[in-house]
Parts: sequence; C-alpha cells; structure tokens
Amino acid sequence: MTADTMTRPVNLILLGPPGAGKGTQARMLEDAFGLVQLSTGDLLRGAVNAGTPAGLAAKSVMEKGELVSDEIVLAVLEERLQQPDVAAGTILDGFPRTAAQAEALDGLLAARNQQIDAVISLEVDDDAMVARVSGRYTCADCGEGYHDEFKQPATAGVCDKCQGSSFKRRPDDNAETVRTRLSAYHAQTAPLIEYYNARGTLSKVAAMGAIDDIAKALGKIVSHLTGA
Ligand code: AMP
Repeated sequence: MTADTMTRPVNLILLGPPGAGKGTQARMLEDAFGLVQLSTGDLLRGAVNAGTPAGLAAKSVMEKGELVSDEIVLAVLEERLQQPDVAAGTILDGFPRTAAQAEALDGLLAARNQQIDAVISLEVDDDAMVARVSGRYTCADCGEGYHDEFKQPATAGVCDKCQGSSFKRRPDDNAETVRTRLSAYHAQTAPLIEYYNARGTLSKVAAMGAIDDIAKALGKIVSHLTGA
C-alpha cells in the first residue's frame, strides 16, 4: 500500500540511542510505506548550514552532544509539518527527546486531527553504540550510509549507490561526543519509553542484529497500522 491509498495518515515514532539505527530504518520505512522521515537532527543541521537564527543557536549545543532547547526544536519541526508532503504520515526520527516535546507533539498532531499511532523503541547495547557511531560516514551526494568497520563501499572511495566520490562525517560523531549524547538519551529521552508504554502505543524491537531483519520486524508493525 502506498501513501495515496492509505485511509488516514499514520504517524510513527522511532526511539533509541544514537547509533540504534533510527535513520537507517526510517529511510527503509519511507521507501516501503510512502511515509515521510522527519529527523529533527537533519532539520537542525539544515538550519546550521543555512545560518538561520535557530541554526546559530543550535550549533555549539549540537557539537557538544547536548540537547537543543525544546523551543528551537519545536519551531523547526512545526515549520516542517506545514509542508504538504508530510500529510501522508510521518516517521519521527530523533523526536520527541524530552517529556515537554512529547506533550507538544500531541498538541501539534491534535491540531491536524492526527495522533501517534505507534512508538517503536529500538533496543540496543549501549557499549556497542560508541564504535557504531564513531565509524560512520555518508556519501556527500546521495546520503548513502557507510561505516569504517561494518560497511565499506564495494570499490574504495566510490559510493555504491550513486558512484559519487565525496563522503562526509558528522562533527558530533566522535567518541567523546557520542558518550555525551548517550547520557542525554538516558537522562532525558529514555523515560519516554515508559510514557508511551503507559499509553499502550509502545513496541520494543531488538535492534542489534542484521539491518534487514530489523526492517522486517518494523515492517510488520507498520503494515498492521496501514493495513498494507
Ligand atoms: P540526531 O541527528 O538525531 O543524532 O541529532 C543530532 C543532535 O541534534 C543531537 O545531539 C541534539 O544536539 C540535536 N537534536 C536533534 N533532535 C533533537 C531534539 N528532538 N531535541 C533536542 N535536540 C535535538
């Protein structure tokens, strides 16, 4: 089933620490179900690169691996939600990250006669996350993800997907910043697992295995919601 045949928009939240695979899985779900990935990290990086006031305020906080203020994050998200492509439904990746954001999200969706249909917590071992995140990089042209240890391009220096030859790394994907990001996750975001569990919308998915196996588990949950 594609977005245009769905009866109503489906909104999904992916929860999990940095490195859990939220972005990878969100992109796979986009392709499979026609939902739109909304990554507040991507939106904030866009604002930083564009030099907007929100971006200027967020830059140093992101470099340290701390959380950007709810006010800034909500402003960039709200702006994005006004664009027509998200009407089909969304996969929220990296949002909400605080209780205040979760409450604000309910309000934003209610104003659009929508709701959160499912929250999926990607369950991973923290110890493995530092190595996972510190080795990752992407193709600068198409965004395909790679890893120094786990996924090199078939031909060194050439993107498998678009044959591009420039690659980039996020400035916050270094071991020290990842540790701060993991602490922020446990202190401020992990409590949302219980928040959504109490609302009966939470599923936990074991996410240390193969990317395709995890995608299958997520696909089952989403097909159930969309009737696909
Ligand atoms: P991510 O791409 O999701 O790993 O986010 C990268 C960085 O952007 C985080 O370490 C935070 O500094 C900031 N960020 C992204 N999303 C949020 C959010 N929902 N709330 C606060 N800060 C965020």
